[in-house]
Amino acid sequence: MKNGPFNPNREKPVVHVVRGADAYANTIAVLKQFDLSPVSGKRVLLKPNVGRMAPAGSGVNTNPQVVAAAIDAFREAGAEVAVGESPITGVKTMEAFELSGVANVANERNCPLIDMDERSPVITEVPNGRVINSLKVCADVFDFDFVVSIPVMKIHMHTGVTLSVKNMKGCLWRRSKVDLHMLPQLEGTADKSLDIAIGDMATVLLPHFALIDGSIGLEGLGPGAGTPKELNVVVAGGDPFAADAVACKLMGRNAEEIPHLRIGAENGCGIIDLNRITVSPDNWAEFSSEFKASPKNLTIEFPDIEVLDKNSCSACQSTLLLFLQRFGESLADYIPKGERLKVAIGKGHENLPAGTLCIGQCTVKQKEGGIFVPGCPPVGSQIFKTLQQHAEQGNPD
Ligand code: SF4
Repeated sequence: MKNGPFNPNREKPVVHVVRGADAYANTIAVLKQFDLSPVSGKRVLLKPNVGRMAPAGSGVNTNPQVVAAAIDAFREAGAEVAVGESPITGVKTMEAFELSGVANVANERNCPLIDMDERSPVITEVPNGRVINSLKVCADVFDFDFVVSIPVMKIHMHTGVTLSVKNMKGCLWRRSKVDLHMLPQLEGTADKSLDIAIGDMATVLLPHFALIDGSIGLEGLGPGAGTPKELNVVVAGGDPFAADAVACKLMGRNAEEIPHLRIGAENGCGIIDLNRITVSPDNWAEFSSEFKASPKNLTIEFPDIEVLDKNSCSACQSTLLLFLQRFGESLADYIPKGERLKVAIGKGHENLPAGTLCIGQCTVKQKEGGIFVPGCPPVGSQIFKTLQQHAEQGNPD
């Protein structure tokens, strides 16, 4: 990684944290700590996390006031600014911008919103990739001089956390994001291929600046079905790994134990050792508040359900979680006494027990012996309807 204009000393990155009740004011204050003059006369792409259909305040998407302040601050510094996103499978970009409140703040400012899925992708080589050799990257990313990653602080059931480095996965074109979840396990390592792939991705797709929204984050069943967690902070830095490491600490995590951050740092993409990062203010660590982890096993949360998950992506995971939260209590009527309902998601299954509820297109090959719900991702109400129809037909399995 070359020294970016916002990270002049690569060996000793600087990260600033601001805490306060007003997310807009916090963001303006944190950006004032940096010399933004390099963006004068340049094009800046703001890449928030608006990957899901969720309203402001839910902790699922980036707070629109953080995006609003970023638009204002980078424009004030002389940049031409746009906001872009490519959401998860099954979500339409402009609808997510609308519901999240980001469309509103952008429209008020006459700032362009970009559906980054609209154009054909640019195939980008990953020369030293361990599990990926190339990526399909949204073409818009290459039209800009600077990319600012603006994630919201979230626990992620597959990757531990999702912050500014992982948020760049939302620059991968359409369904190609899912490919990173489908990679076979690499021999000779306990690291999951998804984490190695994010470390590979960081070697070619690193933002120039990280602006992390910790006003209301998400704990528990992140990235899509967790619980909002108010922290009232904003974190910023020119080394996205350093900013993520500070955000991890604020969430009660150690970045060295977040595999994709450890692997990316080992790849030389940035620094996560807090002893090598200059953080202000001095008492920043006092702002920490532990984010609850994702349950390791959904069966603990839903004892009548056994989830069989092989290489699913977070779109299916979120659908399943939301389905269980909404319909979990009604499922008892459809589960034979003393048994558990087996639910399969993901592409890696070979032999599933008869009667398994197979959710999503990835399980289509298993549909003969089970109850199949199509969709990518499937729809929660459709899953319930399929179960009901199956029961009405007399459980032929
Ligand atoms: S079917 Fe589910 S796991 Fe498979 S790609 Fe679609 S959303 Fe992801």
